[in-house]
Amino acid sequence: MEITINLAIKKKEKPTDESKLGFGQTFTDHMLLIDYDTNRGWHNARIEPYGVLKLDPAAVCLHYGQEIFEGLKAYYGKDGGIYLFRAADNFKRLNYSARRVCMPELDIELAMEALKKLILIDREWIPKTRGTSLYIRPTMIATEPFLGVRPANKYIFYIIIGPVGSYYPEGLNPVKIYVESKYVRAVPGGTGEVKTGGNYAASLLAAEEAKKKGFTQVLWLDGCEKMWVEEVGTMNMFFVIDDEVITPSLTGTVLKGITRDSVIKIVRNWGLKIKEKSVSINEVLAAASSGHLKEAFGTGTAAVISPVGQITYKDKDYIIASGKMGEVSQKLYDEIVDIQYAEKPDPYGWTEKIG
Ligand SMILES: *Cc1c(COP(=O)(O)O)cnc(C)c1O
Repeated sequence: MEITINLAIKKKEKPTDESKLGFGQTFTDHMLLIDYDTNRGWHNARIEPYGVLKLDPAAVCLHYGQEIFEGLKAYYGKDGGIYLFRAADNFKRLNYSARRVCMPELDIELAMEALKKLILIDREWIPKTRGTSLYIRPTMIATEPFLGVRPANKYIFYIIIGPVGSYYPEGLNPVKIYVESKYVRAVPGGTGEVKTGGNYAASLLAAEEAKKKGFTQVLWLDGCEKMWVEEVGTMNMFFVIDDEVITPSLTGTVLKGITRDSVIKIVRNWGLKIKEKSVSINEVLAAASSGHLKEAFGTGTAAVISPVGQITYKDKDYIIASGKMGEVSQKLYDEIVDIQYAEKPDPYGWTEKIG
């Protein structure tokens, strides 16, 4: 499929201070769009000036949440090259999400080609300092106008991109998390492992209540017994107990994080002990009380590694690693970031130089 290009005549002002980028606030001059309908399949791939979408108020995504998305990043390498990190894995996961909510799958090669074109057109927007990057948000929405619950027969896939700094204002400082024992995020057979908008709408109230109490995020427990650790906000969870790195196994209710997968592979490659298993909150708290819990951290594209300095469960605080970033967390952060910025050779084949 040919990708037509319509360049913006008027360029937006780029942020000048890379230390103040924040997250998800600024978008570049262009976006990519591809249309779908059941008769024609995917068609009309185009790069256009960034702007508002025109949607019928009856569009299915607005009423029944038929929507999926992804999040990945591009980086300016040490050598001045532009690098993508595991991008094809994100599109594979997008297709996985698509199947679960009855949306059409994308051709991954087309998506990759379109993404690269878009990034290269807006390459001047990629920030250069370590810790900053170009965030990429592929999104698919159901646009067919009708009311009634069935899969739509019209969709738009689009990609918007924008320069970002750190996800949390804390940066690499440890965050305080609240173990949620009232609300749940996902249940077996549900959509917990799908990046679909509804999951995040459903999580807002818990996060707001936790924020009011002074926490950055909530730690979700399983939806049935409220006993098993699932994940934190938009991050997968890891614990270092004695000399073993532990993460909850993927049971269908936890998002299959790509950063999670990278961490597992790196830790294994380092020769450390790594285990994917069911982790009960009691096991974590007991390890914290007895001094065996050395570190806890979340993993996700946005923050990479986010150390957890405190866990609070039923009004009891547990301080982890004296509230500091632990050794394994720091080493993992450095390793992943070094690979992402091409400061180090990438033995895993995760990075792709695109320009
Ligand atoms: C996106 C996301 C993650 C992290 O996935 P990455 O691929 O590592 O970015 C974890 N949990 C949830 C709920 C997410 O939405």
